[in-house]
Amino acid sequence: MPTTGEKPGKGTYKCTNCGQIVVLDDSTDTLPPCPKCSGTDFNKVG
Ligand SMILES: [Zn+2]
Repeated sequence: MPTTGEKPGKGTYKCTNCGQIVVLDDSTDTLPPCPKCSGTDFNKVG
């Protein structure tokens, strides 16, 4: 699964801990910590 610090590419990622959605709109964007719970594990949803 994508984790904080990776560059998983464009898409929508959902925090596995709290469900917060993080959107990356550029392939060079680094996945940040969850803005809500500071979680670092995400599932790609789109
Ligand atoms: Zn979270």
